[in-house]
Amino acid sequence: MLSFTFSNQNPGSKARTGQIQTSRGTFQTPELAIVATDGELRSLPNDALQDIPSTYFIVNTYHSYTKEIIPIIEKAGGIHAHMQIPDRLIATDSGGFQVFSLGFGRSSGIGKILPTQSDLKKVHHDDAQNLITITEKGVEFVFDGKPKVLNPEISMDLQHKIGADIMMAFDECTSPLNSYEYIKRSMERTHRWLDRSIVAHKSHADAQALFGIVQGGEYQDLREESARVVGKKDVRGFGIGGSFGDFHEALSTTVGWVTTHLPPEKPRHLLGIGKIRDIFSAVEQGVDLFDCVIPTREARHRMLYTKKGRLYLRKFKHLHEPIEKNCACRACVEGVTMSQLWTWFLEKDLRASTYTTLHNIQFYADLMREIRESIERGTFTDLKNDYFRYY
Ligand SMILES: [Zn+2]
Repeated sequence: MLSFTFSNQNPGSKARTGQIQTSRGTFQTPELAIVATDGELRSLPNDALQDIPSTYFIVNTYHSYTKEIIPIIEKAGGIHAHMQIPDRLIATDSGGFQVFSLGFGRSSGIGKILPTQSDLKKVHHDDAQNLITITEKGVEFVFDGKPKVLNPEISMDLQHKIGADIMMAFDECTSPLNSYEYIKRSMERTHRWLDRSIVAHKSHADAQALFGIVQGGEYQDLREESARVVGKKDVRGFGIGGSFGDFHEALSTTVGWVTTHLPPEKPRHLLGIGKIRDIFSAVEQGVDLFDCVIPTREARHRMLYTKKGRLYLRKFKHLHEPIEKNCACRACVEGVTMSQLWTWFLEKDLRASTYTTLHNIQFYADLMREIRESIERGTFTDLKNDYFRYY
């Protein structure tokens, strides 16, 4: 069972703190989920997960399915036992985003957000690169030369087997390059797929909480319609998916259209978003949960997050000081220096990415705690302005 209570102490802002209660404990929101692709975090052994401060994790159904990890997770007794974190909150995505990335991501070479107008001009569309077929039944795609299918019933079955606390209904994640007409048709199909996901989930409804996903791209009427339709369904929370317009500034506006029309008593998870500016903008619009690969992926790419902005390790390779003072991560507590980390990266010593991953996870956990505390104190805008000086 999953229950949610929230409070909002900031007049004039939709920012809110909340508590998610499950049989595993009580979890504070807003919180960002660390992405454990197929039940593993690259660069970290699973027995290290108990020591990291994050309370929320998300596992990719697509990767677990295509790499055939799900039987291993089932044999361990479910994802919490497999990851050795019995007391944390874990979600699974529907597998949709990765499948649809095989479509628009490959044919246009883009992600969910187009960063700038000039990048938009560089996009070349090539349908020959599109590896998927979407019909009312579901999605057919090719993995490793073999045909595969994902649809609401299969996605629910895979997510039941993984056994996370929160599951996402099967949806189509559209591209920022799709037309209004396409996004409207796709959104209506996603709503029909949600009804099928709800039916397929019924027998597991007590053990796992199903979230419905709002789509609608960058269009106000579609986003509002999707939020109204999904908001009335028999689900325990909401994912906000898809693309959010061409530029980062559009995210706040788009998310605001959605949260205005969702029932306030259920949690909202903004899927796949985790840039610091975007987190503040979305929290301000009443988002409770996030997930993003940024903390871990950028750590492996030698990018370190600090209160004074992002540091590219190469620029600090001569610095015999830890990454950040007063950081509680193992790297900073043990006094591992930037020059040491740089040397380890050069030597392909695995300690390098382990320590930078631990540091970035600590940074994001601290950020989310600061956000929660600032909402409770009524100082959220001050905290946002502090971070926006460097991010
Ligand atoms: Zn640190």
